[in-house]
Amino acid sequence: MARYIKSKCRLCRREGTKLFLKGARCFGAKCPIERRGAQPPGQHGKKRHRRLSDYGIHLREKQKVKRTYGVLEKQFRNYYKQALKSSSNTGEKLLQLLESRLDNTVFRLGLVSSRSLARQLVNHGHVKVDNKKVSIPSFLVKPSQTISLSNKGAKLKFVQESLEQKTSPAKWLTKKALIGKVERLPLREELDDSIRENLIIEFYSR
Ligand code: SF4
Repeated sequence: MARYIKSKCRLCRREGTKLFLKGARCFGAKCPIERRGAQPPGQHGKKRHRRLSDYGIHLREKQKVKRTYGVLEKQFRNYYKQALKSSSNTGEKLLQLLESRLDNTVFRLGLVSSRSLARQLVNHGHVKVDNKKVSIPSFLVKPSQTISLSNKGAKLKFVQESLEQKTSPAKWLTKKALIGKVERLPLREELDDSIRENLIIEFYSR
């Protein structure tokens, strides 16, 4: 599957905010945004302070969320279409779909420190859903399902490092030892309140 392979920090600089794409590094002094501020990438980054059009504002919000979850355009648009068909609020449903991705769920359980490491763990077959191996990062988890790691996966250095941090799982999940459970789908108020999902909906419904 296609994926973004350039510098992740560049994406944060482009969006003008920290997207927390690199795990522990994002919380330390090595984060370029901590060191230099949210300077746009490229040679003329410093000089760019254009006022965004309405279209630009909508586009940037969509790009920010898409990049945060590490999803490519086609799949992100498919989530929007799926959310549109749902009887729930479209924006909330869109965020629920993104949150329910298996890679995001592994990250939200605190088993790894970033979504990209979670994706790597899933891709390499180290994640099990209801005790069966699932190697598709976009797999959508459902309430009552359990998430666990293979013995090999649990011993990986980046998993051990993350477990040492003793990060609490998101409120819609529980974790006992290395077994996570999806208790329910996340509520809007439990998700990042800086996301303006209405702008994303407006972007796609133009
Ligand atoms: Fe973004 Fe993390 Fe890089 Fe900082 S260290 S710019 S938050 S990816």
